[in-house]
Amino acid sequence: MPVVYSAAHPTEAHLCRQFLEDQGIEARVDGELLWQARGELPPNEATNPTVLVSDEKFEQARLLVVEFEANHAADRELDSWSCSQCDEDNPGSFDECWNCGAAMASET
Ligand SMILES: [Zn+2]
Repeated sequence: MPVVYSAAHPTEAHLCRQFLEDQGIEARVDGELLWQARGELPPNEATNPTVLVSDEKFEQARLLVVEFEANHAADRELDSWSCSQCDEDNPGSFDECWNCGAAMASET
């Protein structure tokens, strides 16, 4: 499977995977475990999580990733939040934890 996107961290990789799946493209995140072990490795492209799609969908996915990156740049403006269940960081545009599915805790 070709790599369509190299993410800075697993949250971004899953955002991208979800975005592609919303458009009907099956995608897979690879390299998460390596990313978690990166403390022992020099940081480089090879330790970043990647998003993979099938060969047939690659061209379509590549165009969507361009769109994803544009949207995602806007998402970065929103405050991220930490999951109360698993402590994972989530982008501000998410109202559910990408990792465990828990709803964002209300601050009110
Ligand atoms: Zn969580």
